[in-house]
Formats: sequence, C-alpha cells, structure tokens
Amino acid sequence: MSDINYDDFFAQKVSELKEDGRYRVFTTMERVVGRFPEAIWHKEDGSQKDVTIWCSNDYLGMGHHPVVINAVKDAVERCGAGAGGTRNISGTTIYHKLVEDSLKDLHQKEAALVFSSGYVANEGALSALCRLLPDCIVFSDALNHASMIHGIKSSRCAKFVYQHNDLDHLEQLLKDAPKDAPKIIAFESVYSMDGDIAPIKEICDIAEKYNAMTYLDEVHAVGMYGPRGGGVAEERGLLDRIDIIEGTFGKGYGLMGGFITGKESVIDAIRSYASGFIFTTSLPPAVLAGALASVEHLKVSRIERQRQIRNVKYMKDLFEKAQLPYLKGESHIVPLVVGDAKCCKQVTDTMINQHGLYVQPINYPTVPKGTERLRLTATASHELHHIDRLVGVLEDMWSNTHMFANASIAA
Ligand SMILES: *Cc1c(COP(=O)(O)O)cnc(C)c1O
Repeated sequence: MSDINYDDFFAQKVSELKEDGRYRVFTTMERVVGRFPEAIWHKEDGSQKDVTIWCSNDYLGMGHHPVVINAVKDAVERCGAGAGGTRNISGTTIYHKLVEDSLKDLHQKEAALVFSSGYVANEGALSALCRLLPDCIVFSDALNHASMIHGIKSSRCAKFVYQHNDLDHLEQLLKDAPKDAPKIIAFESVYSMDGDIAPIKEICDIAEKYNAMTYLDEVHAVGMYGPRGGGVAEERGLLDRIDIIEGTFGKGYGLMGGFITGKESVIDAIRSYASGFIFTTSLPPAVLAGALASVEHLKVSRIERQRQIRNVKYMKDLFEKAQLPYLKGESHIVPLVVGDAKCCKQVTDTMINQHGLYVQPINYPTVPKGTERLRLTATASHELHHIDRLVGVLEDMWSNTHMFANASIAA
C-alpha cells in the first residue's frame, strides 16, 4: 500500500513553481464595452483599479465591435444559448454551415471545419492526419505552439524538430528522411512569443520538392494580415500553396473557436476521424454568429487593420528611440525580454500596481528559461497617448537598473 499523502504531494508541486517564480497568478479583469483597452481590475482584496490592458489578443477590438455584439444578441434571441449536441448528433446549426462557407471563401479553399478552439483544431487535425498517413513523418518548427506538439505526439508518428525558421536545417532533415514516406511540415506564420514571421514561400518550395504536405497555423494572423484578413499566406499570395491553414476566432476575431481550411478530401477525413472534433458539444450558435459577423466584417473593413498597424509602428519607433531591448520581428507582437522569471514578475507587478498598466509576465515553459519576457500588444483600440505613457514608464524602469540586479537583460 502506498503511503503517499496526496495533499502534501500536490502542495509541494505548487510550491516548487512558487520558488521558481513561475506560479501563475490570474489577474481578474472586467472589460467594459466602449472603454477597451481600459478596463477594471478586480483585486484579490476586493478593491478595484482602472488599468490599461497591454497583453490582450483581442488585437482589433472585435470582441466589442457593435457588428459582432449585435450578431451575438440576435442569434441568442432567435436560437437560444447552446447548440444542443455534438456536430453529428443534432448540434450542427445553420451558423456552423454559414461560418464554414465564409472561411472557405476567406482562404479560397474547397472546405472548412470549425472546432471548439484553436488548440482543439491543431490537436485534432494533426493527430488525425499523422495517424491516418502510414509511416508519416512530421517536420515541426522548434517554436511551434503546444497544441501542435500535442497533436503530433498523440499520433505517435515520427517527428523531427527543425531549428526555428531554419530552411537549411528543414531541408537537410527532409533529404535524410526515407523518400517514400508521407511527410508533413507543420509551422506557424506569426510566432506568438517572438513576434517573427516564417519564410512561408521558401518552406512551400521545399515542401513541393519533397512532396510534403504543408500545415500552417495562422492563429495570430487571421483577421489582421492580407487584404481580406486571410492571414500572412493571403498577404503573400500563397494561399493555394498551403494544404491546411489553421486559425482561431479567439484572437483577431474577438470571440472563441478554432478552424481549419483545405481540400475537401483532407477536411472530410479530419471531420471523420478527429476525436477532438467528434466527441464534444459543438459551439453555441451565438458564438458562431459573432464569428461570422467578425470574419465578414474584416473581409471588407480595413480601418481596424490600419489602426493596429499605425499603433504598432508608433510603439516600435518609441521603443527604438528609448533603446528598449525588444525583439525586432516583423509582426504586431512586441516582446520585451527581461531574462529572469522573478524579475519579470517584479516588473509587471510594479507596472500594474503603480502605473495601472496590465501586462502578464511570460515564463517557462511558454518561453525558454532565461528569456522571460513581457509580450506587449498594441491593439487597434489603443490611442497614441496610451502608447506614450507605456513607453515613458518602461523607459524609467529600464534605466532604473537596480530592478534588474539579478537579471541578464538580453536584446
Ligand atoms: C493561442 C494559440 C492557439 C490556440 O488557439 P485558441 O483558439 O486560443 O485555442 C494555437 N496556436 C497558436 C500559435 C496560438 O498562439
């Protein structure tokens, strides 16, 4: 008989995280329509404080857009709260069909499929693909999201990790792999924690040369890149060269839910075999009505994208002038590396407590140890004065070097 004390065991596991400075403390926000990126912080002691949010993935403010809110309201009043079942058993609503048609059009593909979230879409699609293809080999970028890694792992297929965005390494691995094995290259367009963008065209060229399928996560790009918000592949005219594009309604589109688009044959196979798609209640009609409104709105409206581009450029220019050590990627994500978990937490605590600036510290395992960072997102909803104030505070903190006594500030 085991003499384990379960209580003590789990408490010990959590205190290890605390000692490391990587215990996650949630910050409770109340976002009020019309005021974003400003919001109300509900503190642990029951008091409240007005803050500006600097780490939201509602990049375009679509979660509060009247077009989206009205679509959600209409759908909930017409069709009620829940879908009432799984997709196969009474849970396919007219909104599922409309959203999937809209996504097909967005990516100019034969088919689209909606999942509960982007995480579930990656896990479900990749695990099904890799399991169905006999002796499949996956080539996965070193910085791929946990959901892709999980999907590949659960298929138990062979996997090679290539160095982040390293075309030579990728090609070498493909060259060394058995010629006759089916192959998938899995990668992202915008990398969410470094803010850089993959060389998509060159990866497609390599894929073609070795007859590999391409699987592209555009979660941080849909809604924001390309003339209709299709993502970076659309912006670069490469939609037809990607076999499967994966995205989310949870970030630029402002709601929740994930999706994939591709050829009818592949999408139908995933629909038929992906466990995470089949055995779960489908998304509520109201969420999909909101997603549909958001996707359709951003196909034609450029105001949100232009505002975000202006804000990001303004922020990066000020960071440059202030010589703040941010990672200089091409995307809208601006990571500021602190390089130590405890110090990172100390910085973000000071920002919210003293200055009402909310940014969550990003720690291991989301990023490698020693590269702990702030991940700042200037959304379409920020005003230039918000950015001025943020940079002023950061500049003061970074010149106040005693804060970084035990940190190696990496550029
Ligand atoms: C957030 C994220 C996901 C998951 O999307 P959700 O809709 O939030 O589940 C997938 N891939 C990447 C790169 C992400 O950053």
